[in-house]
Amino acid sequence: MQINHNFGKLQTSYLFRDIASKTAAYRADHPAADIISLGIGDVTRPLPAAVVSALHSAVDDMSCAETFQGYPPAFGYDFLLEAIRDGDFRSRGVEIETDEIFVNDGAKSDTANIGDLFGTDNVVAVCDPVYPVYVDANVMSGRGGRFVGDHWTRFVYLTCTPESDFLPALPSEHADILCLCFPNNPTGAAIDKAGLQQFVDWANEHDAVILFDAAYEAFITDDKPHSIYECDGAKTCAIEFRSFSKTAGFTGVRCGYTVVPKELVRDGASLNAMWARRQSTKFNGVPYITQRAAAAVYSPEGAAQCRETIAYYLNNARVIFDALTASGLKCWGAENSPYVWFQAPSGLTSWQLFDTLLHEAQVVGTPGSGFGPAGEGFFRLTAFNTLEKTQTAVARVQKLFSN
Ligand SMILES: *Cc1c(COP(=O)(O)O)cnc(C)c1O
Repeated sequence: MQINHNFGKLQTSYLFRDIASKTAAYRADHPAADIISLGIGDVTRPLPAAVVSALHSAVDDMSCAETFQGYPPAFGYDFLLEAIRDGDFRSRGVEIETDEIFVNDGAKSDTANIGDLFGTDNVVAVCDPVYPVYVDANVMSGRGGRFVGDHWTRFVYLTCTPESDFLPALPSEHADILCLCFPNNPTGAAIDKAGLQQFVDWANEHDAVILFDAAYEAFITDDKPHSIYECDGAKTCAIEFRSFSKTAGFTGVRCGYTVVPKELVRDGASLNAMWARRQSTKFNGVPYITQRAAAAVYSPEGAAQCRETIAYYLNNARVIFDALTASGLKCWGAENSPYVWFQAPSGLTSWQLFDTLLHEAQVVGTPGSGFGPAGEGFFRLTAFNTLEKTQTAVARVQKLFSN
């Protein structure tokens, strides 16, 4: 027998392990140090009250025979599919039908599993820096080629640099699958409608498919597109991933959805029909309780409570952004995003800056180099700590860099 040897090609990411071990070593040497993490990649505020009450009543439904629910429908209950259709799309002038929406247990699994639909020989374009899931999932399926130096030989890298505010340029070589994420993790970059339209037009012209990760759309406060389907022609070239994780604090509850339009046809096949077949075979739906909780996000109270929490994180991001900018650091993100991405001062590498911040300010963040070679020399701070700790942390950083 043979295993899938692509697993052996995966590069071990030591990023979060190294952050943890360096932090633990510092803590052991300085037991009294008040270390503050602005590296948290998870939400921290509790679930909205409307969601909590929907959870309670869904549990009650399960406790009596009349309202008990067994296996959920494979693609989601109508009450949630309709809430998504109306709340996330119709409200923005986009018509998505309920049978184009597939409720899932969070966006990560589907951004990885979607590769089931595509041949192994397709060329995948990813941004650099990038959320590592897109890269590793495609390597597991054999689309990475070999890892040479700091890159995979079969991927097309869309390098994102300060010159373009970390927005990628259109691919300059052949690509079949484009992984895009806006607002972006880790850079916080958000693309405007005209910019996204260029990718949609490119994909339609080149018979490519865009995999659009919109996990942070709820952080958009200006007129940037929340959905790729706000662009003309996106239904013939794009699959969109949404998540309740960052929108409504569902990282522990687990719920999201994928949109695969019926107009999306490649190689003579409907990707919607293929995804439906894939999901009915390999996935058994999301718990009733969870879907009731997700539907509560669309109630007037739920939506208002979500907006309040997001405003809290966005304010933290603004506090970080303003303090670093006042210290002379060049920053991106914070607008439309819980991330602040900044350039390490005086030519420090990402890890040198990590050590400096830990040792001199007792602040932990995430080295940009952990997200790809183009992240070297950059650093990510997140808005998910409390306002008080965020303020304390950035005051220390500010003091450090004004010395
Ligand atoms: C957090 C995050 C998600 C959401 O993942 P879930 O599985 O829904 O929790 C998706 N994409 C990116 C880039 C993220 O940072």
